[in-house]
Amino acid sequence: MTQGLATRTIHAGETADAHGSPNMPVYNTTTFRFASTADLLDVVEGRRPGSLYTRYGLNPTIQALEAQLASIEGAEAAWAFCSGMAAETSVFFAHGRKGVVCIGDAYGGTLELLATQLPQLGIETHLILGHELDRLEPLLESGSQLVFLETPSNPALEIMDIASVADRVHRHGALLAVDNTFASPVNQRPLELGADLVVHSATKYLGGHSDLTAGAIMGARELLAPVFGWRKNLGSMIAPETGALLSRSLRTLTVRVERQNRTAQTLAETLVRHPRIERVLYPGLPGFPGHELAARQMHGFGGILTIEVKGGGTAATRVADRLRLFILAPSLGGVESLVTQPCTTTHHGLTPQERARRGISDAMLRLSVGLEDPEDLIADLEQALA
Ligand SMILES: *Cc1c(COP(=O)(O)O)cnc(C)c1O
Repeated sequence: MTQGLATRTIHAGETADAHGSPNMPVYNTTTFRFASTADLLDVVEGRRPGSLYTRYGLNPTIQALEAQLASIEGAEAAWAFCSGMAAETSVFFAHGRKGVVCIGDAYGGTLELLATQLPQLGIETHLILGHELDRLEPLLESGSQLVFLETPSNPALEIMDIASVADRVHRHGALLAVDNTFASPVNQRPLELGADLVVHSATKYLGGHSDLTAGAIMGARELLAPVFGWRKNLGSMIAPETGALLSRSLRTLTVRVERQNRTAQTLAETLVRHPRIERVLYPGLPGFPGHELAARQMHGFGGILTIEVKGGGTAATRVADRLRLFILAPSLGGVESLVTQPCTTTHHGLTPQERARRGISDAMLRLSVGLEDPEDLIADLEQALA
């Protein structure tokens, strides 16, 4: 019987340490000693698993972390990286050289990489919006082999149907990669819905404490194999100390995210009734456009909600500046609640016209709900909105 997710976050990747430690120690070393050349060649040529060189990921701390990362997404294997962007870059280089289609809103760095940097290397990229899905088939027919999407999207929390897109992508022999950072595997497991690869900024929910930068990809061994060389030679390996810290954080992932889901739902239900708020975007609200789809494909609605303040961009800035408990900072997924005004941070690089085309208004504030008492968070929002 497959164990539950909470059990796996704690016990996957467990190895018997020589001293009986229940946790994999931090192997803070760059290299490993061999008894003989024959012994070394056995590892180099893959005849036996073993530790070799940390940048390759052949380090027990990193390998234990990767077993844990694979297990939480229900994947055959996982590679850990030094950041979410490092993970994405390696996936695009390994699988996207014949063209990448990105559907909907993605993280700002992802959009920049796809819109300006990969094309400089001659890689064709296409950014289409969630309501332009009719453009997908022609792009797949013209040779794009990797489709990338993020759901729920940032910051409007648009929900995309992973199973349906996976089906359309597979009919053309292409691959679907999903950035699962916003949902976390507690709330959504894209591989079970038909996606081929999952990408994470582990800097967010997986790390969960705003104190480490890391990334991961999960999927079938066969699809991860070509990514290995890119990670190795781009030098995108996570440091063993950071890997151990991430591994520790993963053990509390389910309790953190379940609590964040509950608090976000409470905040959303309270804020919809607030006279100074125009709109609350949260997949857990029955009136939200993606609610039914989210209820079908997700196990929880997540810890992020976006509010639109009455009075436009200046009013939203005033609220952001007046919040005391919510920290004004551009990240998410940590134990502390954060607020960000997308037009000044994550989407600052887009022109006002492009933001409008993507439905991102200046009046939006994105709230990442932490683990504080919900009453204190509500009180903070009420004083800032007053
Ligand atoms: C933060 C983020 C990234 C980039 O991750 P880093 O760890 O900062 O490199 C990618 N995707 C999403 C959805 C993110 O929120």
